[in-house]
Amino acid sequence: MPTSNAHPQLRIDIVSIFPDYLAPLELSLVGKAREAGQIDVRIHDLRDCTQDRHRTVDDTPYGGGPGMVMLPEPWGDALDSILGSDPSRTPVLVVPTPSGERFTQAHAAKWALGDWLIFACGRYEGIDSRVMEHFGERIHVAEVSLGDYVLAGGEVAALAVTEAVVRLLPGVLGNSESVVDDSFAPGRMADLVEGPVYTKPPLWRGLEVPEVLLSGHHGRIEAWRLEQAHERTRTRRPDLHGETPSGDMAD
Ligand code: SAM
Repeated sequence: MPTSNAHPQLRIDIVSIFPDYLAPLELSLVGKAREAGQIDVRIHDLRDCTQDRHRTVDDTPYGGGPGMVMLPEPWGDALDSILGSDPSRTPVLVVPTPSGERFTQAHAAKWALGDWLIFACGRYEGIDSRVMEHFGERIHVAEVSLGDYVLAGGEVAALAVTEAVVRLLPGVLGNSESVVDDSFAPGRMADLVEGPVYTKPPLWRGLEVPEVLLSGHHGRIEAWRLEQAHERTRTRRPDLHGETPSGDMAD
């Protein structure tokens, strides 16, 4: 069901051994987009694609070492079945992993233009590498990381990426203007984080809202916001401008 002539409905499939982990996709912005038919979200239990009575999805790693690795067979069957369900779409297989390319707003913007995202949520030590190798020969595979830390599974990453993409779809956000001023938004904010924001009352616990924001002078307000975005980016995210962050972990 297309949402408009210009934009096809985005289908999102998520494969996990913890389907209940994806329950937040029924809430808030993503939940409303589902209800409105703007997106079609389907959650799959990887264990439904196992062949043994224990519904096994993992085994010990070749080469030894601690932990378990996810078996290629259930992943192959699950992804074959999903891919076979709609040959008319162009899928992107998103595989969250700490060893992936850092997920950014640019990925979100690109995937919001597409019509199909499939998430493979790993657990344990991750998914047997041949799964990404095999599907990489058939469709676009994007191994992405949320950041330089290790989560217990890919579900949180699937939730984060889904929300980042869905809020960019036409008609999903109430005020589409807000996307333009967001941190990392294409255009003048591309390499910037947003500056501080304020609401009523003008004085709270002795702290005042910056005078310029009460001035009603649109030009001055815009200039101030941009200046604040630059200042905040310079102090908090110097890496966005090619500088090395101070890396002071105590902060
Ligand atoms: N042994 C892996 C490594 O060192 O790269 C970590 C595996 S982690 C415990 C299990 C799963 O959590 C991964 O397969 C991935 O799906 C997910 N995960 C963990 N950290 C992540 C991150 N920073 N970004 C995206 N996914 C992550």
